Amino acid sequence: MIFALVFMIDVHCHLNFHAFENDIDDVIKRAGQKGVEKIINVGTSLESSRKAVELANNHENLYAVIGIHPYHADKLENDWEKELINLGKNDKVIGIGEIGMDYYSYTSNDVVDPKIQAKVFEAQIQLAHELELPLQIHNRHAGKDVIEILKHHKNLLRKTPGMFHCFASTEDVLKNLLELGFYVGYDGNITYKGLAPGETVESARLISLTPLDRIVCETDSPYLTPVPYRGGRNEPSYVIIVGEFIGKIKNAPFEKVEKITTENVRNLFKI
Ligand SMILES: [Zn+2]
Ligand SMILES: [Zn+2]
Repeated sequence: MIFALVFMIDVHCHLNFHAFENDIDDVIKRAGQKGVEKIINVGTSLESSRKAVELANNHENLYAVIGIHPYHADKLENDWEKELINLGKNDKVIGIGEIGMDYYSYTSNDVVDPKIQAKVFEAQIQLAHELELPLQIHNRHAGKDVIEILKHHKNLLRKTPGMFHCFASTEDVLKNLLELGFYVGYDGNITYKGLAPGETVESARLISLTPLDRIVCETDSPYLTPVPYRGGRNEPSYVIIVGEFIGKIKNAPFEKVEKITTENVRNLFKI
């Protein structure tokens, strides 16, 4: 009999998005066969948060992180916080995210007023505190402000406060978030050559500065597909490629990366 020799967890993906509505069961099965034993789906709005919880209720190895992405911060219904709190009481909800700040101008959406972003981010830090859940932070070109807000609300953060997902920023932001106790998530875009628009530090440099016992692996599926599958849809089974690539950068065997990053996820999310 052959057992999967790999035990990895994809800490951030979106099987709750439309890209997976036709073949989600196959995608989950493929991940399991490759040894990706658990998958965390993340909400970006109330609707996708509800969907993440529904998926987690229907699949034993799926979990949900719920929250409002800064991109949606100006499109909220009045009682959004109440609904998040209700969803957050579900046992399969293990974190609040993806929340944070985003100063990137998307073609489909201009930058949301930073004051509104900050208000919604802070409200969700409070909410996570009430629910006793860690954070999954989204930061795009707003690292300084994200750190400032987190430091300002340090009294609301847990001892293991959460993780920054799909990390890209400066060495200074990395240093600050490590000091606050956060973990750092890396994705398939670490396999791309060169710098992403607006970034100033290579991901390999950031990974080399992040201790292995603070790294977690993610895919952000359906986005950020790693080489050699770049151009196609991303899926959780490819989180193994992320782990292998981190091993190359850190000069560590894959087995070590797999073991430590999986322990990190268990420590952070208690799954
Ligand atoms: Zn994100
Ligand atoms: Zn995401």
